[in-house]
Amino acid sequence: MSEKKHYGFTTTILHGDRQKAIEHGSLHKPIHTSVAFGYADARQLASVFQGKEPGFRYGRQGNPTISALEEKVNKMEQGVGTICFATGMGAIGAVVQALLRTGDHVVSSSFLFGNTNSLWQTAMSQGVGVSFVDATDVANVEAAITDSTRVVFVETIANPRTQVADLKRIGELCKARGILYVVDNTMTTPYLFQPKSVHAGLVVNALTKSIGGHGNALGGSITDTGAYDWKQFPNIYENYKKAAPLQWGLAQIRAKALRDFGSSLAPDAAHHIAVGAETLALRMQRTTANALALAELLEKDERVAAVYYPGLKSHPQHHISAELFRAHGSLLSFELKDGLDCFDFLNRLKLAIPASNLGDNRTLIIPVAHTIFFEMGAERRASMGIAESLIRVSVGIEDTDDLLDDFCTALEGC
Ligand SMILES: *Cc1c(COP(=O)(O)O)cnc(C)c1O
Repeated sequence: MSEKKHYGFTTTILHGDRQKAIEHGSLHKPIHTSVAFGYADARQLASVFQGKEPGFRYGRQGNPTISALEEKVNKMEQGVGTICFATGMGAIGAVVQALLRTGDHVVSSSFLFGNTNSLWQTAMSQGVGVSFVDATDVANVEAAITDSTRVVFVETIANPRTQVADLKRIGELCKARGILYVVDNTMTTPYLFQPKSVHAGLVVNALTKSIGGHGNALGGSITDTGAYDWKQFPNIYENYKKAAPLQWGLAQIRAKALRDFGSSLAPDAAHHIAVGAETLALRMQRTTANALALAELLEKDERVAAVYYPGLKSHPQHHISAELFRAHGSLLSFELKDGLDCFDFLNRLKLAIPASNLGDNRTLIIPVAHTIFFEMGAERRASMGIAESLIRVSVGIEDTDDLLDDFCTALEGC
């Protein structure tokens, strides 16, 4: 495959690997399980350790199977480099561990994946200031920025209420102020949206979700898009300034987060994720079409009090989603009318499975306040706009009619 020709998203993922020879002509990158890598010449071992020539040292810092996946994700995001982690949280945690110091300040969206919210609480207990703002309007982000703000962190479409961040304007603001803009692209995936297009410096993906797509492997990644000038970042140690500035950020993340904290992706998981990623575009086409059909059905039903899906004209950020994303995502949430028991409703569904996780091929459904957002308490839930009856749906690839039927039948019992 020629490096020069511009191929589409799926062709690139399928054939991009073959730009370099794969062992024995294997079509999949083999699963390398060796923890250590031996060198016939001891001087070569030393020069790999000193970063003077490429090569693998020890499995915690990477191996050939992981590198192949890193290249694949990097191509999807059109980045300058990507590092994989054991989980999506491992990737987000790496931002805190590698890039922030006591006294630094972060502006984060208040509409966040629950565990990321909890991670920021941990960072606060370790001396990092975090301001939570409604990031659907750039003015709120701007008002929260201080002289010590190092990072602005947002999700594209927030889980579970589907607020869409003011991605483009926040990108312009961060660029003007020289602040590192980190975007969690999990809900959109690089097929629907590339945060590089709005000046994000780092992109996080929970590979566990739609990119892996089959709910059979955990993984996460950080991609450097090349949009951020690391010379403006005060927290890069001298050690990691040896290479070109474009590589400073990832060099420090690989050493300070992956090597020192050890949240390394397992080679088996990397293989599962790489295979799943081959069909990302096909699956997203199906799940986003299913999600829109289901959102429209729920919005018309008198037993439903509210539906949150960026593809609906009634959604407050529908215009941002329509402008920036190829489709409006696979996640929606809704509230039943007062007095209707969400557990009874869930138990009447035959196809949709009560389970956590997102981006599986199967439709998964969960009562948010009673499960994933239980620990944070009613007050914080209310401040995040999470109603006690909110139900989140991660829409799968089932045949559309079957899926709609399942919800209709369950609603009829209400
Ligand atoms: C699931 C998720 C994560 C965390 O990913 P894990 O692989 O479960 O650790 C982070 N961000 C978002 C938006 C997610 O949905």
